[in-house]
Amino acid sequence: MYIDLRSDTVTKPTEEMRKAMYDAEVGDDVMRDDATVIKLEETAADMLGKEAALYVSSGTLGNQIAIQTLTRPGDEIILEQESHIYLYEGAGHAVYAGVSTNTLPGHRGAMNPEDVQKAIRTANIHHPRTGLICVENTHNKAGGTILPLDHLHAVSKIAKEHGVPIHMDGARLFNAVVASGHQATAFTQYVDTVQVCFSKGLGAPIGSILAGSKETIEQARYIRKRMGGGMRQVGVIAAPALVALTKMVDRLAEDHANAKRFAAGLAEIDGLQIDISAVETNIVIVNVAGTGLSEEEFVSRLQEAGVLCGDFGPELVRFVTHKDVTRAQIDEALLKVQRIVRGVA
Ligand SMILES: *Cc1c(COP(=O)(O)O)cnc(C)c1O
Repeated sequence: MYIDLRSDTVTKPTEEMRKAMYDAEVGDDVMRDDATVIKLEETAADMLGKEAALYVSSGTLGNQIAIQTLTRPGDEIILEQESHIYLYEGAGHAVYAGVSTNTLPGHRGAMNPEDVQKAIRTANIHHPRTGLICVENTHNKAGGTILPLDHLHAVSKIAKEHGVPIHMDGARLFNAVVASGHQATAFTQYVDTVQVCFSKGLGAPIGSILAGSKETIEQARYIRKRMGGGMRQVGVIAAPALVALTKMVDRLAEDHANAKRFAAGLAEIDGLQIDISAVETNIVIVNVAGTGLSEEEFVSRLQEAGVLCGDFGPELVRFVTHKDVTRAQIDEALLKVQRIVRGVA
């Protein structure tokens, strides 16, 4: 049995989720007849402070529908250079929405508002139109960091001045909520649309929500159908998502405590380089260059020792804590990391 720290997507549905699946009231959701989906969408919209919400099969689909809903072909979107939308969604923005990108560097995932201001195109017959700004909270590649509220406030002020909408990729928004102590609405008040995953730390098997204004979500529903994302008796998977949303948020604090414990342990191991102050939620990124191992070698040696983690680009390895890894397993994983690093030294 591996200690699986590759991602919080590996979490399995709880018993309560499985029972909820069995008992779910269902109907044809394309006809808006599925009571469980309607309840999930209403609950999510309410928690996120938006008028309406749309259940989608994945976070990527939610992000891509948002981009198509809020832009026109030929627009340019502004986003952080290591954002999920830019790096990990197969350039769906280019394929489906027909938009180009203007990527900006971030500090812990947050773009400098002055850079955003400068990146917005002025009306000029030669230029693309700036159609959308995307932000990511928590920021995956930066190590699960939380976008500060004053940052969001500043970006939204600039966006409003220029009439540009903002989409938040909030795949792990509830990690930000629990770690910061702010309500979800404290973050979402600054954005037009937000996508949140149920299938990561919240433990549901499938699905994400896209929330926004009534008008935006109506258009998003149309685009979801066009993309082949309209589903039928989908209450069976919306039911565990509802459990995720209503029962699984507070416990994310355990994952954050485990991530901090793990990061502190890694910091003590010679050869590993880690900024523990950047470990704000459930993601731990460590530089393994000083061990004499490449990141691929590090990942495969650790796998042989029974711990799974992710190769996160040159010299970097990512560990993600979640509900199916206990504190004792975190300590065991630390011992194993120590052993493989010493084995080389
Ligand atoms: C996982 C993730 C997504 C996409 O979610 P899928 O359900 O895997 O498509 C989007 N954004 C971020 C930041 C993520 O971590």
